[in-house]
Amino acid sequence: MEKKNIDWGNLGFGYVQTDYRYVSNYKNGEWDEGTITTDPNITLNECAGVLQYAQTIFEGLKAYTTEDGHIVTFRPDLNAERMMASAERLEMPVFPKDRFIDAVNQVVTVNEAFVPPYGSGATLYIRPYMFGSNPVIGVKPADEYQFRILTTPVGPYFKGGVKPLTIRISDFDRAAPNGTGHIKAGLNYAMSLHAIVDAHKQGFDENMYLDPATRTKVEETGGANFLFVTKDNKVVTPKSNSILPSITRRSLMIVAKEYLGLEVEEREIYVDELKDFAECGLCGTAAVISPVGKIVDHGKEICLPAGMSEMGPVTKKLYDTLTGIQMGRIEAPEGWIHVIK
Ligand SMILES: *Cc1c(COP(=O)(O)O)cnc(C)c1O
Repeated sequence: MEKKNIDWGNLGFGYVQTDYRYVSNYKNGEWDEGTITTDPNITLNECAGVLQYAQTIFEGLKAYTTEDGHIVTFRPDLNAERMMASAERLEMPVFPKDRFIDAVNQVVTVNEAFVPPYGSGATLYIRPYMFGSNPVIGVKPADEYQFRILTTPVGPYFKGGVKPLTIRISDFDRAAPNGTGHIKAGLNYAMSLHAIVDAHKQGFDENMYLDPATRTKVEETGGANFLFVTKDNKVVTPKSNSILPSITRRSLMIVAKEYLGLEVEEREIYVDELKDFAECGLCGTAAVISPVGKIVDHGKEICLPAGMSEMGPVTKKLYDTLTGIQMGRIEAPEGWIHVIK
């Protein structure tokens, strides 16, 4: 298959329209059979549930070319399951797991010309999403929904090298206790926009959100989970029911334990102990791990020993091992690599 004439290595993380997308509609209590379409536009009634009451959820995963030339995705079953959980929390119909995986297969297959070649560092970002589509004015869930998957090629995350981030402890909250922090809903992002714009204005790369109830414990950033490495090489991650369960973070914890032989722990992490960690990273599909070099707590700087010029040694090993697994250079645990073709 002839690839598109794209400068893969210089792509950023922005929307590049591809040729095809997947669409399935839910009406009268059931999903239709779904189809691939070329039309990137959606026509909606002015009163659609998503427009009035933000009834929308999404997922994010990547397709890429492995060393031996296969096109694969990473643990799409977990994206399917997470989207089912998100749908239930927002009173939306569940899009079945087998259909989700089949839809990902279909939309990647027809867009094969946009799947970046091995070694380019670029990937085809896959964005499944679902929204309430019929008119809703009284507050209630919509009766009709659209499930859709768009794809867009994205460039290497660490273009021009790894740069550890400077983040701040945010005075804004991301998710309420017993709220929707644990699901992948657009509403969690809408409310984080002011905080991130403000962080950037103040010269920070990201916000570290705390638990809103006590403001003493670390939760996550707007779109990535935290991993910390202790001075005795234990990998720890915050435990909270208002954190979005990152598939990258869950996979890295397994890599730490099974591949690197490190001790791992998911527990409450207090702001007070941040100064004691050796390394800190942000985990998510986009970057796998972005190292954090500095955490600023209202003017007080916590500089991680790993520094501001490269990844810490454990973070680097985690990063190299997981990306090695994803690219087919290191043997994957059963079921992690889903071969599309
Ligand atoms: C999507 C997301 C993540 C990262 O999850 P991955 O499955 O690793 O991509 C982390 N935090 C939030 C709030 C997210 O929405």
